[in-house]
Amino acid sequence: MIRVLEARFVTSATNLNQCPKPTLPEIAFAGRSNVGKSSMINTLCARKKLVRVSNTPGRTRLLNFFDVDLEVDKKKRTLRLCDLPGYGYAKASKAERDQWQGMISEYLTRRPVLVAVVAIVDGEVGPLDSDRQLLAFLSQASPQILVAATKLDRVPKSKRALQAQRVAEGLDVPAEAVVGFSAVEKLGVDAVWDRLVGATLRHP
Ligand code: GDP
Repeated sequence: MIRVLEARFVTSATNLNQCPKPTLPEIAFAGRSNVGKSSMINTLCARKKLVRVSNTPGRTRLLNFFDVDLEVDKKKRTLRLCDLPGYGYAKASKAERDQWQGMISEYLTRRPVLVAVVAIVDGEVGPLDSDRQLLAFLSQASPQILVAATKLDRVPKSKRALQAQRVAEGLDVPAEAVVGFSAVEKLGVDAVWDRLVGATLRHP
């Protein structure tokens, strides 16, 4: 049983040197702009405005860090979440895309405490080429990838399992790597925490 006790903003960084001292197991969240990443982090942390839910995609070009105190089997454990800047918004120039790739790639390959990356895709729309590109990019460096198919409240309940399977097939990952999520219905919160805490426990 996992319960969120508290969540707080730590700092923002534009490069590895500005990241907080690597003292806690870290989970990064990645996804296209507007995919529902801020809403997912807020929902996981049971907070409405920990991360700003924005309708102007692509504004934030920072790594944002949050610490979350959890109660896991009656013991307190703190994890650090890193909200990676959303990518792939329509107006991004090539220079901006290169900058995004450079920053994320440095973070993914050189952050010693990084345990897993949550790759968020739109569960209603299904996987897009840009999601496949993200997965390919992440899988070069990430220790472990969990795919969250969010906005599943927009899919009828009877079709959700099939839709999650479609996401797995479209991204060429095993079905177990995909967790269904919805910020609106708070669907998948326990499942995601279970997987993330499990990953941190397995990590040396
Ligand atoms: P971000 O740019 O990836 O951080 O995405 P946001 O969290 O800001 O969400 C983008 C839009 O999708 C907002 O209008 C949200 O209200 C909406 N949204 C986010 N998550 C969900 C969800 O689980 N279900 C539904 N129906 N809408 C969502």
